[in-house]
Amino acid sequence: MTHFSDRVERISISGIRKVFEAAGEDAINLGLGQPDFPAPDHARRAAVEATEAGEADGYTGNKGLPSLREAIAEKHRRDQGVDLDPDDVIATAGGSEALHIAIEAHVNEGDEVIIPDPGFVSYDALTKLAGGDPVPVPLRDDLTLDPEAVEDAITDDTAAFVVNSPGNPTGAVSPPDDIAEFARIADEHDVLCISDEVYEYTVFEGEHRSPIEFAETDNVVVVNSASKLFSMTGWRLGWVYGSTRRVERMLRVHQYVQACASAPAQFAAEAALSGPQDRIEEMTETFRERRDLVVAGLEDIGLTVPSPGGAFYVMPEVPEGFVDECIDRGVIIVPGEAFGEHGRGYARLSYATDTESLREAIEIMGEAYDAVV
Ligand code: PLP
Repeated sequence: MTHFSDRVERISISGIRKVFEAAGEDAINLGLGQPDFPAPDHARRAAVEATEAGEADGYTGNKGLPSLREAIAEKHRRDQGVDLDPDDVIATAGGSEALHIAIEAHVNEGDEVIIPDPGFVSYDALTKLAGGDPVPVPLRDDLTLDPEAVEDAITDDTAAFVVNSPGNPTGAVSPPDDIAEFARIADEHDVLCISDEVYEYTVFEGEHRSPIEFAETDNVVVVNSASKLFSMTGWRLGWVYGSTRRVERMLRVHQYVQACASAPAQFAAEAALSGPQDRIEEMTETFRERRDLVVAGLEDIGLTVPSPGGAFYVMPEVPEGFVDECIDRGVIIVPGEAFGEHGRGYARLSYATDTESLREAIEIMGEAYDAVV
């Protein structure tokens, strides 16, 4: 008799998708996790030129094109000051696959993985798919991950903990001292820190730092992606880097589940990484203006709003019934519990949408609030 694996039965379709399915056609969608900008022209052109020249028809090496991995290494030298060998980079099908191979390569059956709660939905699901047990750690009131809470959650079974700054769904940016603490914890407890840095460039308050800058052992692997850095979600191009021995293990998984990242996307990402970077500033400035608009609007409504220092999400505390009332009135927002038990009582709003729609959505959310309190 056929059956489904116990692993797959431990996970379900993300709560975010369920919200989208419930929404009407004319709804204002504040549920989307992707920047509303076109990909950089030079990235698109590089893919077109490589495709027309017949350079993108075949498999690339499993790790990806050497020139792409050199551009990735150069990016991390430039931004983090890390001395990264291009051979210690794997180009993946988005940050999603990078997270998958990092967890698959390091987590045994029954191992624990400490994850932020609320946190990005994949951490929980990928841990379960690897046969591990997620250990959700509640966030501080400002929605940053507390290193002490992570350290307290470590047991003999802990294989890894996940750090995500700037964070989804919170928009919170961890201060550099906390990032240094995460590195110390990885070193001292000999557990792996998986640092998900896909929102690295979208920071308004504070600065983006990586645990890999501080670690004294090789206990940090970094996940990043062209998706949010360059507004290229559809290209499905991310990467993971770490020490040679860790990359070699992750490559074993990548080789069998993916073979290599899509060749046209690799050309596009290489151009995005090494070409003009002005789009990044334009996006960050736009997101900052919208963040200010949305935070002020939500506070005017009467909601408590931990101020997000980055990414393009805000996570206000909301009264019972608020999310459903917003969706019924045509504004899609995501209930906090879609991101973990401790997200209950919050909602995630993405402001990756135009200012006019945001103003309209704030007005509707004000009416929804009045209807439920
Ligand atoms: N990590 C975080 C925190 C995310 O929010 C996302 C996407 O929403 C990803 C990783 C994966 O992004 P992608 O696979 O598009 O690179």
